[in-house]
Amino acid sequence: MNIIFIGPPGSGKGTMAEKLVEKYELLHLSTGDMLRDNIRKDTELGRIAKTFMDEGHLVPDELIIRMVGEVLKSEKRGVLFDGFPRTAEQAKALLKITKIDAVMELDASLELVSERILGRMICPACGKVFASKHYKKNTCDHCGAELYHRSDDTEETVKERYLVYTTYADAIKECFAELNILHKVNADDSIETVVSEISEVLDNLL
Ligand code: AMP
Repeated sequence: MNIIFIGPPGSGKGTMAEKLVEKYELLHLSTGDMLRDNIRKDTELGRIAKTFMDEGHLVPDELIIRMVGEVLKSEKRGVLFDGFPRTAEQAKALLKITKIDAVMELDASLELVSERILGRMICPACGKVFASKHYKKNTCDHCGAELYHRSDDTEETVKERYLVYTTYADAIKECFAELNILHKVNADDSIETVVSEISEVLDNLL
């Protein structure tokens, strides 16, 4: 099965993906992670993407669609798309190359995501996300790597990224509306509640 998580930055898409991919044997495809990996490796795509990401803007559709298409060419497992599609163009391109079984919308206010994003620390090795409010160490409890704060997790870019999300969200949902596969969860609920609501939808697809 192929699943999409949409929601503003900080709504918990990555955290939920981490909790669900193993159970449902899915590839976690996060376009944000793929772009950051390109930046770390200093590829041409990474250099271009960085200029957009630092401002909280979207990376151009054609670069993203090509990057995702390359992965899907050789992937045999189902995919959990995290942070993709982010525009109607991307959604239409995706629907041309694969079938989507469910779109989970993680609904969250700007207030909630700002608090989460400004206080989040990330493990560069395994991608695990920590809330500095509760987690006081600066190394990952899973693999020991030193945690970092994303350079685009600033007050200005959070507002911009939230605005970008709300600008495109309706058009993305419109692309899936007639397939009747849209489900909404409240991202402000506890992690356990959100995981269980998403699992209920995914279990019905097995
Ligand atoms: P994320 O890690 O999903 O929050 O993404 C971080 C940044 O990467 C975004 O603010 C965008 O600049 C860029 N990005 C990630 N995914 C996409 C996408 N599907 N389309 C365009 N830009 C993206």
